[in-house]
Amino acid sequence: MSGIGPPITAVTSAVYTFPTPEPEADGTLQWDATTAVTVMLKAGGHTGLGWTYSSSAAATVIHDTLADVVRDRDAYDITRGWAAMHRACRNLGTKGLVMQAISAVDMAWWDLKARLLNLPISALLGQCRSEVPIYGSGGFTTLSEAQLEEQVGWWQSVGCTAMKIKIGQAWGTRITRDLARVGELRKYAGDEVHLMVDANGGYSTGQARRVGAALDDLGVVWFEEPVSSDDTAGLATVRTALRCDVAAGEYAADLYDVRALLPTVDCLQLDATRCGGYTGWLRGAALAQSQNLQVSAHCAPSLHACVAAAVPNLRHVEWFVDHARLEPLLVDGLPQVRGGALHPDTSTPGHGMSIRPEAEQWCTG
Ligand SMILES: [Mg+2]
Repeated sequence: MSGIGPPITAVTSAVYTFPTPEPEADGTLQWDATTAVTVMLKAGGHTGLGWTYSSSAAATVIHDTLADVVRDRDAYDITRGWAAMHRACRNLGTKGLVMQAISAVDMAWWDLKARLLNLPISALLGQCRSEVPIYGSGGFTTLSEAQLEEQVGWWQSVGCTAMKIKIGQAWGTRITRDLARVGELRKYAGDEVHLMVDANGGYSTGQARRVGAALDDLGVVWFEEPVSSDDTAGLATVRTALRCDVAAGEYAADLYDVRALLPTVDCLQLDATRCGGYTGWLRGAALAQSQNLQVSAHCAPSLHACVAAAVPNLRHVEWFVDHARLEPLLVDGLPQVRGGALHPDTSTPGHGMSIRPEAEQWCTG
């Protein structure tokens, strides 16, 4: 609309469903597949790509509501377009899967703009580091000890010095096994690795304090969602009682959510596929910095590499096994992973990723 860049001429989405090797679970949910909803924006002979991990319902939001808002807008005009998408979704609710849909469009838009400007996206976002630390993540409650050892070996092979497993099994009813599995992680990871756990909100506040005391004794440094992240008072209580860091934020959709969490965590998690894309992620990271807090990117490692490289208060990016497994099946041009870090592509316009022709076999919509 400002007339500086070319108009966006096409907005398309697709759905890809990747079965997990076997059913997986954390403390409060189980699943057997991961769904990626992709968005492509076209302008000036270039195509921008973004995606979110969501439901096919997010593709419906893109098709039915967002596409008409975005089409014909100036391809450089991301901030105005983001606000227009948000306003258009007022009656649908602007969080949850609606914000996941907006997030995918936003990331495609940044990629498109960078390609039009012939710049690596990390440069456009304001790169301040050449590599982005990762931590190994997975350790599902459904894994056998041998399977956990195998995952730890994968994380070691890419140089991870911090590793995270799921606890809070069956809504906090298997605490003895939870703690035994932390012992298994230590056994296979070694004494130098930073141990991290994620209860996915599976404990009550009292349980989380008692489990957390045991985790402190085991040398765990990160206790994620010890209670539901909706329970900010509970998070604050657990945080005050423990030595390890308390982390949350993977469901934050906007700055109001971020503001509510900041007083209750030691490190804010943010997910660009859920919090408004790169636009929302950078805003959330800035808000965390105002409280002298670091941010850690939740999942979607390939999408986070470029934006995580653009914030000074970064702790790390989650190298989540389900996504690390499927992203090479979905796209070509992934950022390299080596030495415990992601290396954003600085030689290719945009983020350098494009849908693989072979991904068609997982396309479900
Ligand atoms: Mg989590």
